[in-house]
Amino acid sequence: MDRNDLRSALLRLASNHLWTYEYRTAALFDALPTATVDQHPFTAVRSLTDDQVASLAADDAFVGAVADRLAHLDGVMASAVTSPDVVYYSPEFGITDVVPQYSGGLGILAGDHLKSVSDLEIGLGAVGLFYRHGFFRQYLDGGRQAERIETYQADDFGFTDTGIVVEVPVADRVVDAKVWKMEVGRVPLLLLDTDLPQNSEHDRAITDQLYGGDQLHRLEQELVLGVGGARAVAAMGWTPGVHHSNEGHAGFLAIELLDRARAGDAATLDDAIEAIRPHVLFTTHTPVPAGIDRFAHAMIAPHLQPWADSWGDPIADVLALGPDPDDAKTFNMAALCLKVAARANGVSKLHGEVSRDLFGDVPGGSDISSVTNGVHARTWVSPTLQDLFDARLGTDWALGNAGAWERIDDVESDAIVTARATDKAPLIELLAERSGATLDPDALVIGFARRFATYKRANLLLRHPDVLAALLADDERPIHILFAGKAHPADKPGKQLIEQVVAYGASAEANGRFSFIPDYDIGVARALYFGCDVWLNNPVRPREASGTSGEKAALNGGLNCSILDGWWAEMSDGRNGWDIPTSDATDDDVRDTEESASALSLLGDIAAEFHADGSGRPSEAWVDRMRHNWRTLGPKVTAARMVSDYDNELYQPMLRAL
Ligand SMILES: *Cc1c(COP(=O)(O)O)cnc(C)c1O
Repeated sequence: MDRNDLRSALLRLASNHLWTYEYRTAALFDALPTATVDQHPFTAVRSLTDDQVASLAADDAFVGAVADRLAHLDGVMASAVTSPDVVYYSPEFGITDVVPQYSGGLGILAGDHLKSVSDLEIGLGAVGLFYRHGFFRQYLDGGRQAERIETYQADDFGFTDTGIVVEVPVADRVVDAKVWKMEVGRVPLLLLDTDLPQNSEHDRAITDQLYGGDQLHRLEQELVLGVGGARAVAAMGWTPGVHHSNEGHAGFLAIELLDRARAGDAATLDDAIEAIRPHVLFTTHTPVPAGIDRFAHAMIAPHLQPWADSWGDPIADVLALGPDPDDAKTFNMAALCLKVAARANGVSKLHGEVSRDLFGDVPGGSDISSVTNGVHARTWVSPTLQDLFDARLGTDWALGNAGAWERIDDVESDAIVTARATDKAPLIELLAERSGATLDPDALVIGFARRFATYKRANLLLRHPDVLAALLADDERPIHILFAGKAHPADKPGKQLIEQVVAYGASAEANGRFSFIPDYDIGVARALYFGCDVWLNNPVRPREASGTSGEKAALNGGLNCSILDGWWAEMSDGRNGWDIPTSDATDDDVRDTEESASALSLLGDIAAEFHADGSGRPSEAWVDRMRHNWRTLGPKVTAARMVSDYDNELYQPMLRAL
């Protein structure tokens, strides 16, 4: 390979985000002299000098590895998705920490969905927005969350410019949105961007920040995502049978589909709804009414007026497309999706039940089914364990193959314990770097990392300070509890939780064993999943629709200690982790105090089991429990299982019915 060929091979490898879950490719980028931790490899390759490329080109092993990875990518792309049967719409996609276009679970799930769709060669494409400022970065200022806004260029991420610009009606004006394409393995992800010179300053800023701005800003973003997204799909020449809305934020895609139906055979709005219904699938992600997008009629009416005019329908009929169960003067995006969708689902069995209750009075609400969330194994399992599993279980473990996971019983304890110790090292380093704390390599490490939304109760353990302090003071059975997570900048109570956790960590009682790691993102999350022994999850049941962080911990051998909510409610078997009993107190305060006591008492038992052999390494009983965790959960928690469920239970039946 000559210099130019090597550079273009590396650019090609960097521009397809398969590298985000193939650590052998990622390792090539890490070896570049221009590599930095927070930069996309595409930028790192582009900034190589000719001399640097020349010296890489002289390294036969490096060139051989690049050629090998490129041949692999070409093989994958031989079956790239070019005309998808299904298009998946989402306001956020968490593919890698260096493309920070996600805020939390919803985006991570969307990223994992695409990666597994690519692995399983399902004919799916995707649509989202490109946010110039992504989501905020977090740092601590005097023990409180402070926010920093960065600026990103699509060119730096290796996205391709499709040359397509779509027009989106926004109230009385038309906004242009440019369409980028991000490759995620075989899957094309279209990202719309309104930051174009022909748009007004206001409109250029529509796609500026994920979940930034006020309600009007949110409404404008959602028009671009839904209406603009469906138009981008058409402009690509895609003719999908199914449009899948990941949460209600993209619900306006229905407006665009209704518009096409009205321009065609549909004589009335009701006819148009029936015409588009077989094509719409809706996944709801929250049982918390505050988590659902709702727009006051006074705000949304001017935005829906152009359609009402062109269809010749009264605006009241168009507003009635999103009937809010509680407020007749509010447009509800989830209700819109339910009203027009042939099929709708929640994201765990329990969440399906809760959603049928919550939306019982909304058309379509009583038929909500469920597909339980899963996680993309090769993104979330440490390279150390991937090597061990590939060698001992066969590579199908990553696709959730139950037979492969059974072979975990043959893997000897030493191999498991050594791999886990190896994976703890980067966490020890990260913690020291970001918080100055020291993690004892023999300590039982308990992790809690997720958005700091109040229902997740990051401060639950602090309700019994004496009990907690005694656990943290135990030198015979050392433990260390690690926290990470961002609160939405407008969420004052969420920010107070962070302040409380940070302050306790700095107190004498915490004994240096209770730490907060700032700037939670995919990178921090991976370090935590790789290094934690126990994953703590204590939301208010049943508000955690699924939760996925515990699934990622489980795949790395971290054992769950959790309230019976979301995915855990259906997968706990009494031995693959621990259930925190749910209090039946009707008073919230009493409930929290009781559940806190239960969690602390369990953590005491857990520390005793971990340290039972007194050898400074996890006990044999513990390692057995890890094997049981892998054997029982490995087949269930992967996104491969989830995406197969979507394909078998929703996509294929919907496509067959067309
Ligand atoms: C998995 C993950 C989440 C979701 O965690 P939950 O337990 O579902 O709240 C959020 N953020 C990041 C970075 C993650 O990796």
